[in-house]
Amino acid sequence: MTTPPQTLKVALLGCGNVGSQVARILLEDADRLAARAGARLELTGIAVRNLSAERDVELPAELFTTDAPALLKGADIVIELMGGLEPARGLILEAFSHGASVVTGNKALLAEHGLELYRAADAAGVELGYEAAVAGAIPILRPIRDSLAGDKITRVLGIVNGTTNYILDQMDTTGASFADALAEAQRLGYAEADPTADVEGFDAAAKAAILATLAFHTQFPLEHVHREGITGVTAADIAAAKDAGYVIKLLAICELVESAGGVPGVTVRVHPTLLPRQHPLAAVHGAFNAVFVEAEAAGELMFYGQGAGGTPTASAVLGDAVSAARRIVLGGPARPATPHAEVPALGMDAVTTSYYIGLDVADQPGVLAKVSQIFADHGVSIETMRQTLHQEGSDGQTLASAELRFVTHRASDSALAATVDAVRELDVINSVTSVLRVEGI
Ligand code: NAP
Repeated sequence: MTTPPQTLKVALLGCGNVGSQVARILLEDADRLAARAGARLELTGIAVRNLSAERDVELPAELFTTDAPALLKGADIVIELMGGLEPARGLILEAFSHGASVVTGNKALLAEHGLELYRAADAAGVELGYEAAVAGAIPILRPIRDSLAGDKITRVLGIVNGTTNYILDQMDTTGASFADALAEAQRLGYAEADPTADVEGFDAAAKAAILATLAFHTQFPLEHVHREGITGVTAADIAAAKDAGYVIKLLAICELVESAGGVPGVTVRVHPTLLPRQHPLAAVHGAFNAVFVEAEAAGELMFYGQGAGGTPTASAVLGDAVSAARRIVLGGPARPATPHAEVPALGMDAVTTSYYIGLDVADQPGVLAKVSQIFADHGVSIETMRQTLHQEGSDGQTLASAELRFVTHRASDSALAATVDAVRELDVINSVTSVLRVEGI
């Protein structure tokens, strides 16, 4: 005699880009999901704001409700795909209090209130799955949490925002300005009408905080993430980087470092970064995402794929839902999600990186010596230097200037800033054209 499969009730909060695809797959692929989960996943309802809104997918009208709190009651698994901080946070806490496991893709919420949610899930003995919150379809959180649990991660470099990667890639491949590349991204639907969250690095910063928390078992508060967006990256920066063999990417960088006092800690930053063109992350084009992990025993690993989009993100959401269902079916405690604070979160003063510095200088003898002396005085050593001569002037009198491009060895932010300030004061300097961090050399 075969035991009839158990049925688990699934409540879906939100039916937008991702939620509509999750609902579709739950309904269309019910048998396949049941075989994998060991229980049928019965979609009991979908909470939305507007019952008459047109949906991407045709779904039974009787599933829809505007009463999210009522939908939670009796659910075994709650899938939160509404976005935003509230009411998502309150509804997730309520779901835990009813004993439901929760799956979410809400990076903004996790970056802001992650610790509270992880603790509440632990206290209730239920699962909180959030694979979809970082890099969409790419399985990255589970490998960091589970597959690398026996290793020591030293650094995570991520292209975790598809919009900015699309814009920078367009600028690199077509020579477009930032404004033109952004307009194209908006036309194609890669960027929102208000692109601030993407182009100013807020979205990447939230994902970086989540990655750091998992990779280093340390709750990393969002306000400690150093964040710079890409709005200041010019076509000239991109062209100069290209000429020197680099590509510019917006990277989320989570790194194990030693503070000045020798205490290990974690730094997390998001900023435009020059990468050598042969670095694996340099080959990530368009709106794709990738996360590059460096671990002591495993060495270098790269995870690549679609970082957004309704259907790709639904894949990650359903993976978490099946996993939560299997634990409910098989029994046993949920795995604790609370970070146990192995290392402290450190600020930018603990970070050292190489820098690319572009200078427009008067073409006269002794300039290079003057500039090099200032670098030496500030303890910033030069790795490479290139010089290009420009001919200018349309009035018959040709004025010559030169472009000097330096790549430094690793230096602190403060040493670099002091160096650039002092260089700027030299009478032979027309302008400082670029100051960008370099990784991967
Ligand atoms: P979306 O298209 O804006 O959909 C949001 C849905 O939530 C809508 O159906 C909306 O209802 C519903 N909703 C919002 N506030 C509500 C409230 N107070 N009560 C009831 N329903 C409410 O969002 P999305 O793009 O699917 O993203 C969902 C989540 O996944 C977000 O946390 C996002 O960061 C995350 N995520 C998205 C992607 C992606 O590619 N889109 C990738 C990774 C992670 P109405 O339709 O009635 O307005």
